[in-house]
Amino acid sequence: LNRRLAEFGTTIFAEMSALALSTGSINLGQGFPDTDGPEEIREAAVRALRDGRGNQYPPGPGVPELRTAIAAHQKQRYELAYDPDREVLVTAGATEAIAASLLALVEPGDEVVALEPYYDSYAASIAMAGGTRIPVTLRPHEEIREGVTHRRFRLDLDELRDAVTDNTRLLLVNTPHNPTGTVLTREELGEIAKLAVERDLLVITDEVYEHLVFDEAEHLPLASFPGMRERTVTIGSAGKTFSFTGWKVGWVTGTPDLVAAVRSAKQFLTYVASGPFQYAVAEALALPDTYFAAFRADMRAKRDVLAAGLTEAGFKVFQPAGTYFITTDIRPLGESDGFAFCRALPERAGVVAIPNAVFYDHREAGAPFVRFAFCKRTEVLEEAAKRLKAAW
Ligand code: PMP
Ligand code: GLN
Repeated sequence: LNRRLAEFGTTIFAEMSALALSTGSINLGQGFPDTDGPEEIREAAVRALRDGRGNQYPPGPGVPELRTAIAAHQKQRYELAYDPDREVLVTAGATEAIAASLLALVEPGDEVVALEPYYDSYAASIAMAGGTRIPVTLRPHEEIREGVTHRRFRLDLDELRDAVTDNTRLLLVNTPHNPTGTVLTREELGEIAKLAVERDLLVITDEVYEHLVFDEAEHLPLASFPGMRERTVTIGSAGKTFSFTGWKVGWVTGTPDLVAAVRSAKQFLTYVASGPFQYAVAEALALPDTYFAAFRADMRAKRDVLAAGLTEAGFKVFQPAGTYFITTDIRPLGESDGFAFCRALPERAGVVAIPNAVFYDHREAGAPFVRFAFCKRTEVLEEAAKRLKAAW
């Protein structure tokens, strides 16, 4: 294994899902739903397969029906107009979109500023591109409003500014944010945008959880801020929005130059993927608002079940404004090392979770935090909560 990849080992998701299987534990580690997406969309995939649509190599940029649907989605939801032929690219999940964007846009030695903790493929993809990652740590913050404690991980804008140097090529942003559940606010995004314009940086923004925002939180695409459309590569995925993580259909939107650059890398990674599923996702993106609202309400209810269970079990809970993850602080349980905690958890409680430290370069900053996924059936969440309560 070459030096660029040697430090990464096996992805934590594979390790933890294997542990869940071998110990018969409830898997709240890897983020995938235990209920598949809409029946009518599964039927659309079957129809495509049966009718011979997508069984052979689809067009390199993605099938026209899907590119059109992605452009319509960005326009309808965010007033962002993209030309389906030149400004949209279909990828093998968001994972390929991230890798191809970094491989296309980063020169060896360029610095890439990313919000820490970060989704694990970011570090590996930056390394494969020969870039240097510069983490900016999201800091836990607690405030009491009207007698209620609100906790979130927030961006320190001074730290972000200080991280940018003359060698910085791009900012890699993720909102709603995995694993903290933070949804960046209008103010935070506005400051990121200002900085990007001021320092003439490119931005890759991973918005795969765009439809998973709760309560008062609102997802604002970074590309919609002044001066950003021309410098931003936006990434989305059907895996999260429609609960089909196995289909691996993702996409990129951006200017013709940026999308052409990403396509240059993408064509030599997979060339194309997911033929029949692309047609089905085109139909999914055109589902009525009621689908998106019901999906959000369902996930919000699941969040509340797990958050209540974790709180009762003694964890300090960071109530997520978005995504399907809850980050907890394990120190109230008398624990401080998330790695040791997660390795012992299957034996102790029959539950699998992810130590947030794997998403940090500053491991010590992530040590006491542990992530639980709540994209599971309610009875599964309730059983997990019961087991955790019994274990402490
Ligand atoms: N980005 C983030 C923030 C994610 O959490 C995930 C997967 N959970 C991905 C990208 C990858 O998405 P996909 O499965 O579409 O490759
Ligand atoms: N993105 C999902 C998570 O954060 C898992 C993706 C994967 O297994 N690579 O849990």
